[in-house]
Amino acid sequence: MKLTELLNIENLNKQGIIHLLSLRDEFETKLLFAKADKVRKKYCGDEVHLRGIIEFSNHCDQHCLYCGLRLHNKNLPRYRMSKDEILNTARFIYKAGIRTIVLQSGEDSLYDCSEIESIIKEIKNELNVAITLSLGERSFEEYKIWKDAGADRYLLKHETANPKLYSIYHQGDDLENRLVHLRYLKSIGYQIGSGNIIGLPKQTLEDIADDLMLLKKLDVDMASISPFIPSPQTPYGNETKANVDLTLKGMATARIVLKDVHIPATTALGTLDEIGREKGLKVGANIIMPNYTPNPYRQNYQIYPDKKCISDDPLACGSCLTLMIELLGRQVGKTKGHSLKKVLA
Ligand code: SAH
Repeated sequence: MKLTELLNIENLNKQGIIHLLSLRDEFETKLLFAKADKVRKKYCGDEVHLRGIIEFSNHCDQHCLYCGLRLHNKNLPRYRMSKDEILNTARFIYKAGIRTIVLQSGEDSLYDCSEIESIIKEIKNELNVAITLSLGERSFEEYKIWKDAGADRYLLKHETANPKLYSIYHQGDDLENRLVHLRYLKSIGYQIGSGNIIGLPKQTLEDIADDLMLLKKLDVDMASISPFIPSPQTPYGNETKANVDLTLKGMATARIVLKDVHIPATTALGTLDEIGREKGLKVGANIIMPNYTPNPYRQNYQIYPDKKCISDDPLACGSCLTLMIELLGRQVGKTKGHSLKKVLA
């Protein structure tokens, strides 16, 4: 089948997805990117929504082979931000005009359910924002309490749809369990975000195609297709970093397959390529997640090294990103930028 015909198929099958991911010809790749941009414009418009992230704790009791926060990385200075520090950062994000606050951490069970609950309540009481939680796997009771406290969204990447690789990367964990969590989160009313990492060791294009089909099946509201960056002090520290072009093809194909979902141009993409986020916004992405974690903590949320903007003052983020977005002929979203699938109050 011709590429132009393939790009017009409403529901691409796995074979079709693999075909798009394996495009090599420059002209054909441009056609893929142009189609993804068109689908983005149709379903998301020209607004780029900003989500301000607060990485409030880098303590983690997990062992993900790729992640610098893993428990066994003894070289990483660990921190927990206090509730007041988190609230002050949230106010700062709000003043910058951003209407989604993402609370992210390692899997830090010492930051207990009621502390998180009270942070959610105080933010929602004081600021007119959406809250995304990204705290890893927690108990169903906790998810429910936080939802009732006012959290809107939960971001939990499935990381890989290949159960064998999932189990290798996560030291014996079960992919199905991750999916049970995602389905539960959705069932109690969270907008859910998930996604994969492109370029992990042993991964094939077929695995990436499965990732996109899984995201479709989960009916996610947000899909993060982001590149692997080897992190020192992890078992994968000497592995090869992801290919930027393959990551962009993954994002573009995700846009074509998933249509009305939010897709971020990730910090990891901006880390691998100076203009990676701009490239991402041109091939289907409509979200940027600027990092507002304050000093001195931000250097130590080292999921991977040399994170984009890590030495910048968060004060400068808003104007820098606005310029980037406007240079692309797009606008910064002024609303909470809820799921495109259902507009929630
Ligand atoms: N503890 C939370 C947040 C984890 S960090 C959770 O488990 O969901 C957020 C994301 O960083 C992870 O979901 C993973 O996809 C990504 N990540 C971790 N290590 C990475 C690496 N070396 N390269 C690229 N992305 C990585």
